Amino acid sequence: MTVQAGLADRLEAVREHIATSAASVGRDHNDIALIVVTKFHPASLVRDLAQLGVRDVGENRHPEARDKRDETLDLNLAWHFIGQLQRNKAAQVASYADAIHSIDRPELVAACERADRGSGRGQLEVFLQLNLTEDEGRGGVDDAGLIPLAEQVLASPALRLRGLMAVAGLDADPRSEFARVAAASQRLQSVAPEATALSMGMSGDMDAAIAEGATHLRIGTAITGNRPTSP
Ligand SMILES: *Cc1c(COP(=O)(O)O)cnc(C)c1O
Repeated sequence: MTVQAGLADRLEAVREHIATSAASVGRDHNDIALIVVTKFHPASLVRDLAQLGVRDVGENRHPEARDKRDETLDLNLAWHFIGQLQRNKAAQVASYADAIHSIDRPELVAACERADRGSGRGQLEVFLQLNLTEDEGRGGVDDAGLIPLAEQVLASPALRLRGLMAVAGLDADPRSEFARVAAASQRLQSVAPEATALSMGMSGDMDAAIAEGATHLRIGTAITGNRPTSP
């Protein structure tokens, strides 16, 4: 099987970029996980990425995520759900995802802890999404809601709280936005010392995210090329 032209080069370039960027701020690139965002792309792209050594993939919609995972179950990849989640789909997503990065309200936690994940899959990894804007429509919990939401996750044996997730605003300076996430992470760690993960940084702002301590980058177009306009 030949891998889609250019994909291997772009993946390698992004890996090198991450290593250089991490070194420039005194960080070890091994502390930074690369999640390749495959939304809108076919399962064949996921297969190509796996052949190139990718283990973590990100999707933002149900049922697209479920279908792609079903088609590539033999690859044993880790599936990260990164999109806004509706309450009536949360339990379904929680049944197949390995991690959900977009938990932002109590009803989602409740739905996830009730999800049937089958035996032997372990806990669902949870990242709490922080809203960096005043716009509630963008998703994410606000500063006041963060600690109560964290405590709800901590109280559930089915869930493992990993840390925070955020998307920088379109017009904002990503470095200062991600610094706010890092500050919120310190607050979070006062109640959840193990919740140190920071899921932040996309194709356009990965350097700012790495400088502010990102542990999980969610990179799509820089690796996959432009997305098809529909799945
Ligand atoms: C699509 C998406 C990404 C990846 O964005 P790129 O700009 O393609 O790297 C990251 N995070 C979320 C939440 C997304 O929806």
